[in-house]
Amino acid sequence: MNIFEMAQIPFNQAVEAMKLDQGVRDIIANPERTLEVSIPVNMDDGSVKVFTGYRSQHSTILGPAKGGVRYHQNVSMDEVKTLAFWMTCKCAVAGLPYGGGKGGIIVDPSKLSLREKEALTRGFIDKIAPIIGEKKDIPAPDMNTNAQVMGWMMDEYSKLTGQFEPGFITGKAIIVGGSLGRTAATGRGVVVAALEALKLKGIAPAEATAAVQGFGNVGSWTAKLFCDEGVKVVALSDINGAIYNADGFDCYKVDEYVQKTGSVVGYPGSKEISNAELLSLPVTVLAPCAMELQITAENADKVQAQIISEGANGPTTPEADEILAKKGVLVVPDILANGGGVTVSYFEWVQNLYRYFWTEEDVIERQNALMRSAFKEVVAAAEKYGVHMRVAAYIVALSRLIEAMKIRGIIH
Ligand code: GLU
Repeated sequence: MNIFEMAQIPFNQAVEAMKLDQGVRDIIANPERTLEVSIPVNMDDGSVKVFTGYRSQHSTILGPAKGGVRYHQNVSMDEVKTLAFWMTCKCAVAGLPYGGGKGGIIVDPSKLSLREKEALTRGFIDKIAPIIGEKKDIPAPDMNTNAQVMGWMMDEYSKLTGQFEPGFITGKAIIVGGSLGRTAATGRGVVVAALEALKLKGIAPAEATAAVQGFGNVGSWTAKLFCDEGVKVVALSDINGAIYNADGFDCYKVDEYVQKTGSVVGYPGSKEISNAELLSLPVTVLAPCAMELQITAENADKVQAQIISEGANGPTTPEADEILAKKGVLVVPDILANGGGVTVSYFEWVQNLYRYFWTEEDVIERQNALMRSAFKEVVAAAEKYGVHMRVAAYIVALSRLIEAMKIRGIIH
């Protein structure tokens, strides 16, 4: 089974619970459009290398396609299509006026010089330019892409159209139309989701402990904001390994250490543990913020956390979901828990359209309110349909998509 088919298992469970027609299911199960492009790049050593990239517009039922672009050696069309499908559902759960999309380039960006990376980025935009735009499809950062990459993309697209185009892309630096609060937004959402889940379980943040897998943008902000909320973060990790301290980390200090050394490993006063150990620690909250497919049929039974708040896209397999549900672990699914990034991307886009910018307090307040209300809607759907939160999140998303399809006459 490929990742695209696997991702549809909880979605199909939602279709079943809602007793939907096969045809309606099929509309949402398949991307509207997926483009594959070849990008030639003149490399520093004088050679020419051709890279493969994708942009999948999964749905434009609720608005323009929206979603990030990732640079990774394991990118595939199936993965991009799956991530685009998740974006559609994520935006619909949050109630944003967006469809879903995703892009990716098959490349290990750590092997590129800055100049090569810029050339690749500009080449990618040249190739996908016909299908993107402020009202069509709005890219953003994802794995291994950041505000600098967004800046190059914005510049290239502005050159192609001959006008200043901040609203065609989000996750930009503030000086070119980015939003305050965007960098921390995904991590903030993971923490908001975890705090709501703690409330459901009647646990105070000060009594809770957390383990965070991954220390990229999402993981590092999740960890730091957990610290702000008084949650004791006892374990952290990155691709080089995992660290543990029963007394809890000052995650801001760990971040400073990572800026200097490049890894969490070796942080003073920490004990090195394995990634498998991190996932099975007896913590209150586990926040997988790294990659897809981390909690599987093989290790789900070992999970001792009471709550999982998913910062990564697709960190838990459908088999693991069943095991965790039986164990009574409350899983706040990715399409709800990591929707903070795209939520603040939406705020950035709104600010770009108005050319009027909000304070960071405004952004945070609106993000918190929006995510808390999405969380409550998903909990209500879970109760109404007697399903776990992942299936409930798909039910909320599907309800919105179906309502819009009916009004637009896509279905009768
Ligand atoms: N890449 C992020 C995600 O997977 C953010 C997407 C966006 O802001 O459009 O949710």
